[in-house]
Parts: sequence; C-alpha cells; structure tokens
Amino acid sequence: MSGKHPSFFQSVERNFDKAAVHTGLPKGLLEQIKVCNAVYQMRFPVSIGDEVHVIEAYRVQHSHHRLHTKGGIRYAMSVNQDEVMALAALMTYKCAIVDVPFGGAKGGVKINPKSYSEYELEKITRRYTTELIRKNFIGPGIDVPAPDYGTGSREMAWILDTYATFKHGEIDAAGCVTGKPVNQNGIRGRTEATGRGVFYALREVMSFKEDMEKIGLTQGIAGKTMVIQGLGNVGYHTANISINEGDVKVIGVAEYEGAIYKKDGLDINALMKHRKETGSIMDFPGATNLPKREDALELECDILVPAALENQITKENAPRIKAKIIAEAANGPVMADAEDILNDKGIIVIPDMYINAGGVTVSYFEWLKNLSHMRFGRMEKRFNSNAYENLVSTVERLTGKVIGPKERSILTKGADEIDLVNSGLEETMIEAYRQIRDVFVSNPNIKDMRTAAFVSALNKISGDYLALGIFP
Ligand code: GLU
Repeated sequence: MSGKHPSFFQSVERNFDKAAVHTGLPKGLLEQIKVCNAVYQMRFPVSIGDEVHVIEAYRVQHSHHRLHTKGGIRYAMSVNQDEVMALAALMTYKCAIVDVPFGGAKGGVKINPKSYSEYELEKITRRYTTELIRKNFIGPGIDVPAPDYGTGSREMAWILDTYATFKHGEIDAAGCVTGKPVNQNGIRGRTEATGRGVFYALREVMSFKEDMEKIGLTQGIAGKTMVIQGLGNVGYHTANISINEGDVKVIGVAEYEGAIYKKDGLDINALMKHRKETGSIMDFPGATNLPKREDALELECDILVPAALENQITKENAPRIKAKIIAEAANGPVMADAEDILNDKGIIVIPDMYINAGGVTVSYFEWLKNLSHMRFGRMEKRFNSNAYENLVSTVERLTGKVIGPKERSILTKGADEIDLVNSGLEETMIEAYRQIRDVFVSNPNIKDMRTAAFVSALNKISGDYLALGIFP
C-alpha cells in the first residue's frame, strides 16, 4: 500500500467496519465474515519461446458461509495478494446482495495479457487451472471462477476443457466455471450482463422522485447525461444499453489513450469502430479531445460510470467531481478516503457490490443451466406460446375483431433463454435495490448507500452463520 492511501483490502475493511456498527451483530461473527478464509498464492513456470516465465498467481476464497464460492479471474500486471483479497471480499457481499447462493472468491494472474500470444495465454490458463485442480480450488460445488478484467469467454472455455479432462466423467463438470461461450455450455446474455445490470440499477435508482429531487435531478433516466471511464466489456455494454433502452446521452468517454467529449452525445458503436480502425478513441469526428484522460472524471454530467479499475477516485480528485451520481461499474473505483468528500458534496455513490452484480447474477443462471443440463425456456416456450395463441384467437372470436400480425407475434411469444435471463436479471437488480433502499430509508444514522448495501449483505450472511448454530 502507499503511505498516503489505504490499500484496496483496507479500503474494503474500512467500509465494512463503518457498516458493522449498524448491525448489532456480535464481534466474533463480524470478524469471521470480514476475514479471508483461504488464500492460495502460487508460482508456476511456463515456457515462452526460448525462455521460462515464472508466473505469479492467486486464488482467494473469502467466505464459506454458503459452502461453495464464486468470483472472476483477473489477468493484469496490477494483480497482488491485497488486490485479490479485496476483490474476493467484495464478491461475498455482492453475492449476498443479489441472493446468489455463493460465498465470494477471486483469482488473479500477474501478467499483461497483451504481451502474450493466444497460444501462450492458453498455456498459462491451462496451467493455472491445473494448479487450482491440484489444490481442490475449483469445481461446480467448490469454487466457480468467471471472467474479470483481462479475461473473457475464451479463457473460460480453456478452463472448462482442462477441468473436464482431469475430471473425466464428472457429470456436472460444465458448472466448474461460468462466462463460457454459448456453444461451450455458456448462457445467452452473460457477456453483456454486468453492463445490463448497471443500466437496470441506474433506472431503478433514478425512478425515485424524492431521491432524485434531493440531488437536483428530475425523476427517470431518460435524457440524462453519462460519462464512462473504460470501454471494455462492462463500460461498452453499459453505454450501449443505456443509450438504446434508456435514452441516455453519453457525453464523455475515457480510455487508456485519452478522453473525449461531445456535448450532444457520442455514437458509441461508431466510436468502437473508430477505435478498432485507428487504435484510439482520440480524434473521433465531432468530439473534442481532452488534455488528460483523468479529465473525463471531472466533467459536468448526471451519471459518472467508472468501469475500468479500482482506486480511480481519490481524495485528490474527489473535490473536483461534478457528477450527481457515481455508478461503480468497476470494483472499488472510489477509495474509502474519497467517499466522505463525495458524500459531503451530496453525490450519490451506487456501490460496486450492488451495481456491478449483474455479471455474477447471470453467472449463477449459467451454473443452474449447467446443473440442469437444459436450456432455459426449452420446456415452456412452445406451451406458453400455444396458450397465448388460444387466448388471442378466443378474444378475436368473441369481439369479432382481428389482431394484426405484428401485435399477434408480440402477444403470442413464448420466452427464449435470453428473455428469461434478462428478466431474471431485471428482477434481481430491482429487488436488491429496494432492499438496500429500505435499509437506507429506515435507518437515519446510515448516511450513504454503500453502508446500506453492506448492512443488507451482513444481515443475510449473518443469518446463514447463525443458522449453523456455532455463534451464540
Ligand atoms: N468478475 C465479475 C465480478 O466481479 C463476475 C464474477 C462471476 O460471474 O462470478 O462480479
């Protein structure tokens, strides 16, 4: 950790302690929830060209209150034990908030994935998986990884293939990892799930008129301005879905190479194309280049979405933030020592452990699909469609009116896997927010939404531990 700021894990612990005082739970129980149960630090050799690279990697299981654990695997040079512990802890609270019945875990491999070929990345991924198998740190009923920063469905397919090779004949092997390609036992809607969840959460938060009036905004997400930091999987889908389904204007974007601004809104897909062609978001037609990439965070806007890495909003830049709402699409973008400054300015910070929980929610659906060995909707889609068809025909017969083909196809549609996934995700994000808001509204001593989210999570996790009967 640096001398000036708390480390990432200390930041999470500090937020935990702030919330714990509102729970009235016994000290020993709080301590058990707070600590990381198991930390596996490994080093393994991988031959790369003529050299051998000794790779540093981790898997941390933060809490076993639900027996098995869940959380992504990150490939980045920033990976270290403190970071993986913090991310694993956040997974525990995140799963509790959205009622995903897992404890939290996280993995990290300290590499820059851009420095390796696809073949080399496959070798690293398979070796890492083998280490997890060796120590019993992976399995559908043990610990279920998923994508995170620097990984995606390709890596998850390698993990499944390695696991299934070692565990030949294990009937539920496909549930050892989530975020897999759809044709490799994945689920439709997982790729965009985190971004879609961010959108559903924002729409729900902004639907409360009295809450929005307090920060000088009108009710509803439509027409609001958004700035996004990071156009990776989470940032891109948040922007795209917010524009298409929420009528939001994305006026600023920051990426590794810099930041751009356009007052009347950016065309996000055209921007992605421009980046692919030129290698950069800069000089996008119609947009203004900003001098520094951090400048985007300080733009005047309604919603700021940090969707890159942790520790982006610090006590140094917090006083200059002008957004009304900060949506923590990344894990840990607001440092604990910046939060008080933001709260004093009246900015609503929607915490990571709630707002980016869409990914793990749909991962849970994928895991359920794997265990049931069947696609969602397969049993009921046609049955429902036929029933609606009968209903429509009966209405037509009784009224003597004919329903047009377009309306008919909407009214008689049975739900596909993607419809069920999105609706399950929407329900989860709405319900979780209502629970957090209830805690917030009914406890005047709780001053920020992160503390309310923590309290909501702690109430659920402590319930599991208390049911075990080991705590007085
Ligand atoms: N890495 C994602 C997260 O931080 C997803 C985890 C998962 O799907 O298990 O929430």
